[in-house]
Formats: sequence, C-alpha cells, structure tokens
Amino acid sequence: MSENQLVEITERILKCEACHLKDSRTKIVPGIYSPTNSLCIIGEAPGYYEDQQGIPFVGRSGKLLDEMLDMIGLKREEDVSILNIVKCRPTTDEGKNRTPTDSELRFCGERWLYKQLKLLAPRLIVTIGSIPLKFFIPSASVTKYVRNSYDTDLGIKLYVSYHPAYILRNYNLLEEYKEHFTDIKKLYTDLLNDGNLERPKNKVLGSQSEQKSLTDYFS
Ligand code: URA
Repeated sequence: MSENQLVEITERILKCEACHLKDSRTKIVPGIYSPTNSLCIIGEAPGYYEDQQGIPFVGRSGKLLDEMLDMIGLKREEDVSILNIVKCRPTTDEGKNRTPTDSELRFCGERWLYKQLKLLAPRLIVTIGSIPLKFFIPSASVTKYVRNSYDTDLGIKLYVSYHPAYILRNYNLLEEYKEHFTDIKKLYTDLLNDGNLERPKNKVLGSQSEQKSLTDYFS
C-alpha cells in the first residue's frame, strides 16, 4: 500500500461535493484503515452517529461489531479496515436514515471505494448486509450466500455476513453471528499465514460480466 496515496485519496474524499448528499451531511465518513491491510469490513452508508462523528460504525450496530471483533481478538483500525460504500449519510425528507439508492451506491462506490480498495489491497473483504453484497455481486442474495466465502479474480477473498443492525433486530441470530466471526478469524489467520490458504469453498465471485466490471476498476 502507498500510504501517501491513501492519505491523498482520504483528503479528496473529505472535500467531496460531487453529489446531492453533500447538502444533508454533517461529516463525511471516509472510513478507517488498518496498517496490516488484510481484512476490510464493508458496510453501506453512515447513519446518524457516524455522520455526527465522521467515523464508521459508532452507533449501536458499531458497538455490536466491535464486540464481535473483540471476541476474535481483532481491533478496528489495528487489524481491521472499515469502509462504507457511500461516504455521506443518506436521509429522508424528515431527516431520518435511509438506504442509499442504487445510483448513490454506484456513484460513490466507483468514485471512492474502489480506489480505496485498490490502495489497501486487503486479502479479505467481509460484506455486512445485502447492500454491500449486491454491490460486489449484483445477482447475490444474503440468504443464499451468507457464511460462505468466494474467491475473486482480484486475489481478494469475499466473506458474506449479516449487518449488525439485523442481529440487533433478530437477537436469536446472535449465536450464529458469533460463528460468522469465528469463520472470519480463521480465514484471516489462513490468509496471514499465506501458503496455508484453504481451497475456495465456492464458486468464483459473480458472473463473468460482474467479474470483468470489477476487474476493470482495479486495472
Ligand atoms: N451502518 C453502516 O452500514 N455503516 C455505518 O457506518 C453505520 C451503520
């Protein structure tokens, strides 16, 4: 990773005025980077608390995410990068959080997330929730893909998990969620030890055309 380039891209993100979300945001949330560049968790967009602080996953969902990371002995920023696809909070007319639209996701993701990933070059991406999964594999559904890992032609493995907000609403899934993080730790350790990589459990990421479009951004 070129640290200078990462600093430069972050400064550019922090000045971004390229879309209408600039009008309703308080702070831009570029994401946090781990110097180990191995594991990157990807969410959809900042919510109220993230928008106030400029840091991803600092609300209730973030607390649960940190607890899960703590359980497997990993820490945000030290071991784990955390990025959102959309860098500014999308709001309803009433000022509530809302799901980013497809065009907001494409626009911001292509403009910034792909560039961040290219520089960070993580070995493992964990998508949390359906929005980030669909961003990478448009035809995928979390129900079918959850708890599986996929090899991409970019040398980045992708593991599919739930959004912590979903677990907060479905607390009966907490034990299963813990198992996701045990899987993540194992993949992460295997990747760090390299050479030790398990064969991919599943098919290659996405369809041919999905792979191509993703590769194009990295080339
Ligand atoms: N949900 C997300 O997807 N990202 C955040 O930063 C916070 C909540």
